[in-house]
Amino acid sequence: MNAWENKKILIAEDEYSNYYLLKKIIDLKGAETLWVTTGQDAVNTMDERQDIDIILMDLKLPVMNGLDATRKIKEKYPKIPIIAVTAYAMKTDRSMALSAGCDDYIAKPLKKAQLLEKIESWM
Ligand SMILES: [Mg+2]
Repeated sequence: MNAWENKKILIAEDEYSNYYLLKKIIDLKGAETLWVTTGQDAVNTMDERQDIDIILMDLKLPVMNGLDATRKIKEKYPKIPIIAVTAYAMKTDRSMALSAGCDDYIAKPLKKAQLLEKIESWM
């Protein structure tokens, strides 16, 4: 039994290719992924189900961006880890993500080993 078994990871990402890469990497470990494409859908999913273990949150999302979605989710579910995933490897984005309530941060382009290590550290 490894840490990944039976874990559910919500991926909020509006670009299919980015989602698919994340899913392929996470699939190797045996965790389940759920996909939403807007910040609003991420918020709704958290309200609809009580079984999400970790959230990977793209910051640039339509309808509601990842920062606002993180704030809303953390208000209600402060213990669910949220890892920001963004194309912008800038320090300002990192600090914005952390001040919005994200627990951690990973920059695109994603490196498989680093991504897995980071997710596992929040399990
Ligand atoms: Mg995006």
